[in-house]
Amino acid sequence: MTAPNALNAHGLAEAISYALTHGIIISKDRNTFGVNISHAPFTYLPSPVNSQCFQKAIDVTPALNRLIHAISQDRQYLQDVLAETAQADPDFTGRLYRLFLSVKPTDIQLAIARFDYFIQNVDDIPSLRMVEMNCISASFAGLGSQISALHRHIGTNPACGITIDPNSLPANDSLTRLCEGISITHQLFASRYEPPLPCVVLMIVQPGELNSFDQYMIQSSLWTSSNITVVRSSLASLSTQCKLDESGFLRINPVGIALDEAIVSVVYFRAGYTPNDYPSEKEWSGRELLERSNAVKCPSVAMQLVGTKKIQQVLDLPGHVERFISDETEAKAIRSTFTKQYSLSANEDVEDTVRMALDRPGDFVLKPQREGGGNNLYGDDVKIALTKMTAPERSAYVLMDRICPVQVENVIVRDGQHQETTVVSELGIFGVHVVDGEKVINFAAGSLLRSKAASQEDGGVAAGVAVLDSPMLVD
Ligand code: ADP
Ligand code: MG
Repeated sequence: MTAPNALNAHGLAEAISYALTHGIIISKDRNTFGVNISHAPFTYLPSPVNSQCFQKAIDVTPALNRLIHAISQDRQYLQDVLAETAQADPDFTGRLYRLFLSVKPTDIQLAIARFDYFIQNVDDIPSLRMVEMNCISASFAGLGSQISALHRHIGTNPACGITIDPNSLPANDSLTRLCEGISITHQLFASRYEPPLPCVVLMIVQPGELNSFDQYMIQSSLWTSSNITVVRSSLASLSTQCKLDESGFLRINPVGIALDEAIVSVVYFRAGYTPNDYPSEKEWSGRELLERSNAVKCPSVAMQLVGTKKIQQVLDLPGHVERFISDETEAKAIRSTFTKQYSLSANEDVEDTVRMALDRPGDFVLKPQREGGGNNLYGDDVKIALTKMTAPERSAYVLMDRICPVQVENVIVRDGQHQETTVVSELGIFGVHVVDGEKVINFAAGSLLRSKAASQEDGGVAAGVAVLDSPMLVD
């Protein structure tokens, strides 16, 4: 590939035009819809990603799918690990935890996860390091697959002035494969329960969502590929359009849609992962209504709890992965991606851990039980927080060794402007897992690469820090 200085005005205009004409779009304003929009921020070039690490991330995905599924089914384990954390963070993790304790698992389960990694050089060898497992609302399957196509387009179009070997750009089918997972589950629901009305998929969204076009790609693909109607609703407006019937079906009379009463087969959450999504009791009642129904929740509240930072820290302890994954090779493959994490539980002796973090705060990341980027603490903030907090308050956090990802040069394109910069890239692999009794469907479902300026510590695309990217595989 030629260097970023091969960037020319034609190539840039081509990339922006491609983005706008292929739906790589975000809203800029929560109060209007479809008016104030822009191309989503992206890198002009695909960033190099070590091909072995990329393949390893894909290969380990079915085992990770199995792992998170098995944890979500082990109620005792979730209680043992999360009871203290729930107490330390009563208004969010605690609330989810109490809801989990009060509901029964459904017959069919669907997980759509995304496993995120950095690649770090260890003794000059590129090595895959898991950042986190996202078990709820893993976004950008839509826009991400389009970015892969954008890079293929400009990288193979001589007029853009860059030449990229198309064989180094992996095909990205995240959108179709996620839809496949939802569609299969929708059909399994219909076969198992034989509902008395047509079924729809219910997508739970945030009011004023800026990333709704990524969601809409799933919505429109489900119709095009499988004739499945998707109804969008916020948690707050569920009470006006949904009710539970005596058989456990979630009946919906969608407001403002030309659709008769229907039954919800799958609830797909693109909201509900942050306390901001529950500003009042109304949203919690909506969530509870969903959890009490026989609709397949993607994810169930149990699966959402599997994605907490606390569970991910505990998995790093000896025996925990192995409790759920009996195949030694698989368990080893999972473990080989882990980065060391440390408990801050008030029930354990964590003084050495705290001292270590106070001595070398730059070497660690302090993580609360939150999702969505922008919540972690780094460097001096780790020190300040750990000094200030009481022991029970610390229990709401985990500590993780800081990963130092490889840095590469790229060009960030945002709001039509470009900036050459050094970036680090976070590779996400989507996983789809469906279980209905003995029937199991389990696959890796495409990738997402997000890059951010190497100087930035935290924050995703939604937080305005990272931008969409795609991998260019290198040795
Ligand atoms: P969230 O659920 O908020 O996305 P993450 O664990 O993914 O939480 O952390 C958010 C961001 O913080 C990541 O995208 C990454 O940039 C950075 N980060 C998280 N863990 C580490 C780590 N161990 N080392 C370096 N950076 C990290
Ligand atoms: Mg993350």
